[in-house]
Amino acid sequence: MSVSTAAVTRPVCAPLDVLGRDVTVPLVTGGEVAYAALDYAASAPALQRVWDDVAAYAPYYGSVHRGAGYLSQLSTDLFENARATVAEFLDCRPDDQLVFTRSTTDSLNLLARALPADCQVFVFETEHHASLLPWQDARVTYLDAPRTPGRAVETLERALAARDPHGPALVCVTGASNVTGELWPVRELAAAAHAHGARIVLDAAQLAPHHPVSVQDLDVDWIAFSGHKLYAPFGSGVLAGRADWLVAADPYLAGGGASRKVARREDGGVDVEWHESAARHEAGSPNVIGAYSIASACRALTEAGFDALVARERHLIEKVRTGLAAVPEVRVLSLFGDDAPRVGVISFVVEGWNSSHFAAALSAEYGIGVRDGLFCAHPLVRTLLGGAPETQGECGAPEAAPGEKSLNAIRVSFGAGT
Ligand code: PLP
Repeated sequence: MSVSTAAVTRPVCAPLDVLGRDVTVPLVTGGEVAYAALDYAASAPALQRVWDDVAAYAPYYGSVHRGAGYLSQLSTDLFENARATVAEFLDCRPDDQLVFTRSTTDSLNLLARALPADCQVFVFETEHHASLLPWQDARVTYLDAPRTPGRAVETLERALAARDPHGPALVCVTGASNVTGELWPVRELAAAAHAHGARIVLDAAQLAPHHPVSVQDLDVDWIAFSGHKLYAPFGSGVLAGRADWLVAADPYLAGGGASRKVARREDGGVDVEWHESAARHEAGSPNVIGAYSIASACRALTEAGFDALVARERHLIEKVRTGLAAVPEVRVLSLFGDDAPRVGVISFVVEGWNSSHFAAALSAEYGIGVRDGLFCAHPLVRTLLGGAPETQGECGAPEAAPGEKSLNAIRVSFGAGT
């Protein structure tokens, strides 16, 4: 290994062609650095096409669903067309609702608030915290990490068979792991859920940017994803799926836009009639630019063609994995094994190295921006590392001296979308 852990204030960077392109960033201290952000699983750079679409529309935006003026009408049309475009991208059922949210985390918290009374929730401990944690107020069963996709289905079936069969139940599962990149057997898990009278929500935060996703084909009841991982800028996300639980629930936020009619009562209180459309959960002025940019990214990916994107990404995955395999100290983390199909998300440790120091050195000395830590999936990363000790901080990196066993991991992630 030729990477030192010394603090480097003036990075000297090797050119990179991992993604077939370099990004040149001027340094504050002067000079330039070729910088590659291999951290798409956290946030992928927005497509130029998306920035262009947003720039073309930005001078004309107005209020949505609120104004009689031309720009308001234009914005309302663009907002609703964005909803239709994203629903088409996800291949939703005709009667599904699509709610624009802030992110996957927001979408799953919204659904958690919409659970019917006494709902049981089943979730694997391997999930990102966004899918693991929103269910704390429900009767939640955490399922042990399965070591094969088949075991995942068996584990879920066993848990569902043991549940109270009369009440409502929800399974929450991720499509592609944000730690290992491995694909989960979503269709089989959905079939198992439905066979036991449960519903299923797919956390597609890592799947949707890399693979075509069809709500109907996978037969999932809801799907959630974030714009900023799908080549749109920050600030918008999506929850799409069955309308019934969403319409039966109190609005996620109370306010204008969600309410159809509000009137004072004789007793001095206020009566509210809430919308039964997606607007019910979109109170406040909506993020029209966010919705518009997600739709723009969906259109761009569809036009680029997922066949080509998947093939290119496979090539990149092979390249990175071959490179990592050539370094004896590197151990790639995997739940389902080396041959499991995966997206461009690869986590590893370098034996004998502190992952945080290693990641900092990759950035400082080579201009390679990666992620280090436990990736907001603490139970999974601990399992993969063989039971690392408790750590502090939501996504933070535990301290370990250079040369000590890794307490956390390094993640490179990329996509073929740029
Ligand atoms: N689910 C998965 C699998 C993720 O990887 C992430 C983010 O990394 C999330 C959910 C949360 O996404 P956001 O931070 O956009 O809400």
